[in-house]
Amino acid sequence: MTEMRRDFADKDDLTAYLRQQFPDALAPDAVSTVDGGRQPAIARLQAADLRRYDKTRNFLDGDVTMLAPYIRHGMLSLAEVRDHALDVNAPAKFINELGWRDYWQRLYEKLGDDIWQDQERYKTGWTADQYAADLPDDIATGTTGTCMDHFIDQLVTTGYLHNHARMWLAAYIVHWRRVRWQAGARFFLSHLLDGDPASNNLSFQWIASTFSHKPYIMNADNIRKYTGWRKRPLAPFEGSYERLARNLFPHRENE
Ligand SMILES: Cc1cc2nc3c(=O)[nH]c(=O)nc-3n(C[C@H](O)[C@H](O)[C@H](O)COP(=O)(O)OP(=O)(O)OC[C@H]3O[C@@H](n4cnc5c(N)ncnc54)[C@H](O)[C@@H]3O)c2cc1C
Repeated sequence: MTEMRRDFADKDDLTAYLRQQFPDALAPDAVSTVDGGRQPAIARLQAADLRRYDKTRNFLDGDVTMLAPYIRHGMLSLAEVRDHALDVNAPAKFINELGWRDYWQRLYEKLGDDIWQDQERYKTGWTADQYAADLPDDIATGTTGTCMDHFIDQLVTTGYLHNHARMWLAAYIVHWRRVRWQAGARFFLSHLLDGDPASNNLSFQWIASTFSHKPYIMNADNIRKYTGWRKRPLAPFEGSYERLARNLFPHRENE
């Protein structure tokens, strides 16, 4: 077997080599704009503006760090991100979020492959077998005709989604389309640059209600507030939380 090259002048050189070696594997627009490696990771950490993280993190244009791929692939340890955050007096909310990642990792260590199993029953009034096992094609191709297509396109083309967009898209898949969270989780993992079974699957289970006491849903006002969208049609998310929950979960008892 021929040895593969290991040294490259730059990312373009590496990309050209991969295209030549695996002509069918690399779609023309499949190369991420995120630079891998320890130096770019440190540069991003140093450049992160954490002063208003707590106030802005829920907004799509908020001051989030996009450090996740570096943390996920071990170019930055969670401890050094925490230490940096303490050095720059970052809001406690930022440390909290690092804590979530740590918590999910510890659970993963305990659960192993059971991370793919429902941790509890759905609290939606539906049983697991009433959810579709596979992801519908229109979700995979971003042709649902809803505003979720915007996020699907972003997920597939960039490998990144803001946390709030992940929550909305996951809730859409599980609750509006009644698809098992596992199918949504597989879809996310196949595209996210920070794709991680612990953070991903357990967040999906929290949204689905198989690892929380109630399902997470959003409404159009919530999407409008955090995206700043004024004109984009937001059906089928219009309405109060009460009305949406009644429609989505007609058999749910008061829990
Ligand atoms: C459905 C769903 C799927 C997700 N899948 C993944 C995944 O596969 N991999 C992944 O790393 N995160 C996942 N998350 C958590 C979170 O959305 C991302 O970590 C975050 O959006 C990454 O962007 P950032 O680096 O700009 O985050 P920032 O807000 O800048 O946060 C800094 C770091 O803290 C950690 N962090 C922040 N928020 C969370 C959170 N809610 N849970 C766990 N860790 C967090 C991450 O390591 C992140 O890089 C998921 C969340 C949801 C709701």
